[in-house]
Amino acid sequence: MSAPASEVHPKLFIANEWRPSHTGQTFETVDPSTEEVIASIPRGGAEDVDEAVSAAREAFNGPWRRLTPEDRARFLYQVARSLESRLEEFARLETLDTGKPLQHSRNEIRNCVRYFDYYAGAADKIHGETIPLGPNYLDYTVREPLGVTAHIVPWNVPLGMVCRSLAPALAAGNAAVVKPAEQTPLTALKLAELFLELDAPPGVYNVVTGFGEEAGRALSEHPGIDSITFTGSVETGRAVLRAAAEHVRPVVLELGGKSPQVVFADCDLDFAADEVAKGIYSNSGQYCDAGSRLLIDGSIKEPFLEKVIERARAIKLGAGMDEPDMGPLVSEEHFKRVLGYIEVGNKEGARMLTGGRAEGFERGYFVAPTIFDEVESNMRIAQEEIFGPVLATLSFGSEVEAIEIANDSSYGLAAGIFTRDIDRALRFASEIQAGYVMINEYFSGGMGSPFGGYKQSGIGRERGLIALDNYTQIKNVVVKVGQRLPRRSAGIQDALAPITKPG
Ligand code: NAD
Repeated sequence: MSAPASEVHPKLFIANEWRPSHTGQTFETVDPSTEEVIASIPRGGAEDVDEAVSAAREAFNGPWRRLTPEDRARFLYQVARSLESRLEEFARLETLDTGKPLQHSRNEIRNCVRYFDYYAGAADKIHGETIPLGPNYLDYTVREPLGVTAHIVPWNVPLGMVCRSLAPALAAGNAAVVKPAEQTPLTALKLAELFLELDAPPGVYNVVTGFGEEAGRALSEHPGIDSITFTGSVETGRAVLRAAAEHVRPVVLELGGKSPQVVFADCDLDFAADEVAKGIYSNSGQYCDAGSRLLIDGSIKEPFLEKVIERARAIKLGAGMDEPDMGPLVSEEHFKRVLGYIEVGNKEGARMLTGGRAEGFERGYFVAPTIFDEVESNMRIAQEEIFGPVLATLSFGSEVEAIEIANDSSYGLAAGIFTRDIDRALRFASEIQAGYVMINEYFSGGMGSPFGGYKQSGIGRERGLIALDNYTQIKNVVVKVGQRLPRRSAGIQDALAPITKPG
């Protein structure tokens, strides 16, 4: 099903204008459920990025900066209300571009609304501190915006990943340039409609579509940006980090994962099986925090696996618009990659219990919910992020072994544990090398729960009030106040060694 032409903007959005790309080239975005082309989108390049960064700079130096925090908050609340009122339209477009079930897209757009509400509420509470230096000084800090923030996002949660960093960046007073993923550029462009309708200062929100090696690279290397928030793969994250080093600018990296779901014999096995299936098969396994490694207590392995297999086989696949349980993978390239990993698993000697390429689909990138058993921790399917509906099962004999296996990863994004033993759960939370731990429910948490990874899963945290640190810098101001008090020996030594200079 194609989108009505009115829904799609085949232009870049810079300084509140829809513009063609300077390259004059376009690329096609495809509905992964049907393989039909949805639209041709500008293939932006360095010149376009340059214009977008200049537009953001003008907004930052001009009208946007002059708004009071309260007015900025009011504007972000308006974005939230406008998005909420058009939730269905955005959700349908997201489903068309990604293939994800419509209900799933609705939930993701609801989360986008929440990001704007949450950070609108924070916009007038970004305050500093006073530092006690005694009666002769006033020392205070101010949290200032950085300026122009760059946001490069992936395709798995297209608008969600934009809003997660855009909302706090704008709340703190920055102006933004966004580069959506080439597979799914439509909703980031559509969001621009709201900024136009709300009469946002031109340049506050800019979107340059295009390929990673072109528009993405040009944005991450641009000398005019003041920070970069990158969400995507480790490999690209490294390139972004190198580019940031050149101009010495702050970076937030939200990268991949190979997160464990650890199941102990004492938990509610039926509930845990539901959660394990949800943890890996939601969004066709295309979540950075997908619970892609299942670690089962050896004493319950067979019966528990039976339950998970049953759930995997019950999952109904289909085109996102038809409200299935699970949609296709995002693109042909990714489809081949995931099928490649299934082949790797079979070759490595793991045993595929169910899944593989989905049958009954002539078109679309469908992979069935897949489960491998007899996986060893050193196998590629236990170590590498597949980013598809593929679960690798390992078993353990003790709590110590469970933690060892869970930590045997270069990633450290999320981890889940299922047990009724609160002491064990809290020991696990303390020992696990992961930035986000969920006890007895997978994918729990909210806008206020900081999200991000240990090890190669990234640098920095998003969500919550702590994310405002990514988009502000601290200025310390120290004032000498009052009359100089009489001193016993006000010699030159005192003047040369001021007490307020610690470093
Ligand atoms: P990717 O790294 O291929 O692409 C991500 C973005 O980077 C895209 O917009 C792409 O165009 C751009 N890009 C590519 N090469 C670039 C370059 N050289 N310079 C600058 N930008 C470049 O990742 P992907 O395949 O789109 O996304 C999947 C990955 O994202 C997975 O590893 C997943 O775990 C991760 N992810 C992490 C989080 C998180 O919060 N930690 C959330 C979602 C996805």
